[in-house]
Amino acid sequence: MPCRYMAPALLERLKGTTMRGWPIPPPKPPIKTATQFALERQLKVTALEAQGLLTSVRIKAALLKVPREDFIPPEYRDFAYEEVPLPLPGTAATISCPHSYPLFYEPLDLGPGHRFLEIGTGSGYGAAVAREVVGDSGQVTSIEIDPLTYAFAKQNLARTGYADVVLVLGDGGLGHVQRAPYDRIAITAACTEIPPPLVAQLTLGGRIIAPLVEDSVQKLTVVTKHADTTAREVLCDVLYVRLQGQYGS
Ligand code: SAH
Repeated sequence: MPCRYMAPALLERLKGTTMRGWPIPPPKPPIKTATQFALERQLKVTALEAQGLLTSVRIKAALLKVPREDFIPPEYRDFAYEEVPLPLPGTAATISCPHSYPLFYEPLDLGPGHRFLEIGTGSGYGAAVAREVVGDSGQVTSIEIDPLTYAFAKQNLARTGYADVVLVLGDGGLGHVQRAPYDRIAITAACTEIPPPLVAQLTLGGRIIAPLVEDSVQKLTVVTKHADTTAREVLCDVLYVRLQGQYGS
């Protein structure tokens, strides 16, 4: 399963501009209309399905509903549906590529009623998509360590109507006991081990997905918690920003 895909034409256009190893497009004033974004959103979802990355009906509906462009700084807004991570306010924050969300949420088997925890709020887009997937009977908590990024996400989620997503400013490696236990946890920054407090705050049968660094390569890994043990499944190589804080890599 491909984890990073970029159209050759896009790569050509992005040549020369890099951000921590990723090409980034040149900032520019936004000109696209809501109608253009709606069309691009639909085309992106169709492409993700064709690539085999998206199969869940609920995740599809969530991706069609959440306006990704509203979670992106104005100077990068027009690139909302291109397969590039884009810079966010903060020292080491990006909104992940569009395909990252089904890439994480499909193997996590995120569904209605789940208590979901995200480590690394970034733009707040991933939390909004998760809120659509878990529905009114579920709950979404998201932790961000960078105060500037946290403030940006908070504003985005309030503006787009996701007021019941609980945002926490702090070290996500420590989890958030106040809302535990969680059925599903997504760590959207790379770490060398799953922080033990997160395993402790996971329900039995619950799953955590994270990019785990192994021999300097990041492997997207799903960990399932059982009574006396955890099971691991490695999915593919990926490239995300590094986890900071006590369990930072
Ligand atoms: N899920 C995000 C993308 C996140 S990029 C989105 O949808 O936009 C990774 C984020 O993890 C960055 O914002 C970074 O500041 C944050 N981060 C890194 N280490 C962290 C930690 N220990 N706790 C919480 N957030 C952390």
